[in-house]
Amino acid sequence: MSQKTILVAGGGGFIGGHLVKTFLEQGHRVRSVDIKPYDQWYQVHDEAENVVADLQEKDACYAACEGMQEVYQLAADMGGMGFIENNKALCMLSVLINVHMTLAARDCGCEKYFYSSSACVYNADKQVSEDVIPLKEEDAYPAMPEDGYGWEKLFSERMCRHFREDFGMYCRVARFHNVYGPEGTWEGGREKAPAAICRKVIHAKHTGDHSIEIWGDGKQTRSFMYIDDCIKGIQDITHSDILEPINLGSDELTTINGLVDIVEDIAGIKLERTHKLDAPKGVNGRNSDNTMIMDRLGWAPGIKLRDGMKKTYDWIEAEYLAKYGSKTNA
Ligand code: NAD
Repeated sequence: MSQKTILVAGGGGFIGGHLVKTFLEQGHRVRSVDIKPYDQWYQVHDEAENVVADLQEKDACYAACEGMQEVYQLAADMGGMGFIENNKALCMLSVLINVHMTLAARDCGCEKYFYSSSACVYNADKQVSEDVIPLKEEDAYPAMPEDGYGWEKLFSERMCRHFREDFGMYCRVARFHNVYGPEGTWEGGREKAPAAICRKVIHAKHTGDHSIEIWGDGKQTRSFMYIDDCIKGIQDITHSDILEPINLGSDELTTINGLVDIVEDIAGIKLERTHKLDAPKGVNGRNSDNTMIMDRLGWAPGIKLRDGMKKTYDWIEAEYLAKYGSKTNA
C-alpha cells in the first residue's frame, strides 16, 4: 500500500485513536486533530502530527485539511444516552464541525472524505418494540431521528450527499451502531452501556458491594460492534463504491440484561440488580440489518460480543485498579 497523508479529525477520541494507530501501522503519514488537551486523549501516538484545535472553527478545519489526501471526520461532541438526551444543543453544534470540515476538504482538494454517522438517524417509529426488525438503510426516512444528536447526524450525512452530487466530492458515510472496546470512555457521564456496565461490575467486585443499577428495565435490545470491526469497516467503506450511507454495526442482538449477564460471567460474580426506570434509556429496540454491507463488501462485523466484552472488561479493570485500587480480595 502506498503511503498517504491522512487526517483523523477527533483523533483524541475513542474510535479516532484506534484509527490513527491503524494508519500509522500501515505506514501512512497521519495528522490527528482534537479539541481536548493531550492529557485527555485516549491515545497519543508520537509518530503522528498531533494538533489541538477547535474544529468548529472554519480556519482550523482548513489548516487541518491542508495537504491531506484522505480525511476521516469523527470529531463530535457526543456520549452515551445520558449525555445525548441531556445535551441536545451541544450535540447539534457539531454541525459547525461538519459544515466547515466538508468545505475545507473540498477546497483543499482532499481525495477522499469519510463521515461517521450513527444509527441514531433512524426513524424512532421503527424502534418502539424490543422485538426488533433490524434497521435497513432506507428506514432513516421519513425522517424522525433521535432528537438533537440524530438530527445533526442526518443533516450532516445529507450534506455529504449533496457535496458529492453538486461538487463531485468523494464522500463516504457509515452509520455506526454502538461501538465499544478498550481505550474509550468508561466513567464521567459520556460512557456508553458496555463500558458503564463493565465499570459497575468491576466496582462491585472490588468494593464487595455486590449490587448494580441498570438504566431502564433492561429489556431494551441492542447490538454492539467491537472496535476492530469498526476500524476495518471504516476503511473498506471509504475505499468502496458505496455512495449512500450504509450500516456499520453488528447484528448480534442482546438485551441490556443479557449484556449484564455476560459481564457478570466474565467477572465471575452475580449481582443484585435494581432498575432505574426514569434513567435515559434510548429507543426500546435497535439492530443493524447487514444485508447491504454483505452484498456490497462481502463482509460484515462479526466479532462475538462475549469476546469483545472480555477484552473491554480487562482493559477497564486495569484502568479502574490503577485509579481506585481494590478494597477487597474478591
Ligand atoms: P469520542 O467522543 O471518543 O470522540 C470524538 C472526539 O471528537 C472527542 O475526542 C472530542 O474531543 C472530539 N471533538 C469534539 N468536539 C471537537 C471540536 N470542536 N474540535 C475538535 N475535536 C472535537 O467518540 P467516538 O466514540 O470515538 O465517536 C467518533 C465518531 O463516531 C463521532 O462522530 C460519533 O458521533 C460517531 N459515532 C460513535 C458511536 C459509538 O458507539 N462510539 C456510534 C455512532 C456514531
